[in-house]
Amino acid sequence: MRVSYTEHNTHFERSKTLFEEIRASIHNNEEDRSFWRPVLPWGGVFTIKAGRKAVSCTPLYVKINLKNTCTIDGFLMILYVILRENQGFSRELAFFLGKQFVEYFLYLMDSCDYTTVKMLWIWDRMSKRQYRSVIHQAALEIDLFGNEHQNFTENLENLMFTMQESLCTNWSCPARFQEFIKTTINISPPHELPHRDPIQSAVDEFFCPKLRLCSEIGCDGLREFSQRVFCHGPPPFVILNMQQWNSEDLSYVPYYLALCQHRYFLEGATLFNKEEHHYSAAFQIDSCWMHYDGLRNDNLILLHKPPEFLLLSSLVYIRASDK
Ligand SMILES: [Zn+2]
Repeated sequence: MRVSYTEHNTHFERSKTLFEEIRASIHNNEEDRSFWRPVLPWGGVFTIKAGRKAVSCTPLYVKINLKNTCTIDGFLMILYVILRENQGFSRELAFFLGKQFVEYFLYLMDSCDYTTVKMLWIWDRMSKRQYRSVIHQAALEIDLFGNEHQNFTENLENLMFTMQESLCTNWSCPARFQEFIKTTINISPPHELPHRDPIQSAVDEFFCPKLRLCSEIGCDGLREFSQRVFCHGPPPFVILNMQQWNSEDLSYVPYYLALCQHRYFLEGATLFNKEEHHYSAAFQIDSCWMHYDGLRNDNLILLHKPPEFLLLSSLVYIRASDK
């Protein structure tokens, strides 16, 4: 679906991008540790400026109300910081999401056009079945209530595309050779805890070759799985789905991760509060940790120390440049 965006922040020329402003606030404001104004607030209202022609055709709605956007907000924030901190990652991401999308995303975030950037994600990346929409009088309501792994991570196309081949030792196996394709990295806690580094172990388990009993009906052979590989090379960043992990398994979150022979380091995380069904995020800028929660008034806060990762939903690691 092609969309023309008519809403722009043209009321004044900004001298700095959002990223430059946040970065400056980290280094200037010793006293006040929250950013001076809301960044990417929860929800949003997108107004469609209907022209004469559209009015005569009686448009169905002129306003779009966004609800429960926390399933994408934290990740949009993390994505923005990653792309602005790492020159060259935009070009790599454009290979998967399109150059136009990446450039427009950065332009909208730079100019604090928060509702439009959410609309860009919804219309350009999400499928209709991933959100609920209803029309109330002249307004369309889009509700993103749900799971951030579905609303965000699964819409990154083939960024984290991996493949693992397997071969059954039994010659009469009905499906001897198989290919297992995944587009996300969903890791489960190792069976035996405590481990020295359970997250690294779980990642190794996801990628490493293994031998399993064949699960084909009527086959009692052994199935050999090859090393899992990234089909499009090691991505600029990876998102680990940590949904299956309990807080007691998360006493140690590694800052470095060896992943498919490449080094990645921790950039951010998304956090999930089950009672409120609400997501928030934490990320680093210039090695300082910040917490973002679109529902709060002071929604971007500089932290004194790395956050607690007890209510973890995802971990985000970026590729180290010195491979
Ligand atoms: Zn078999």
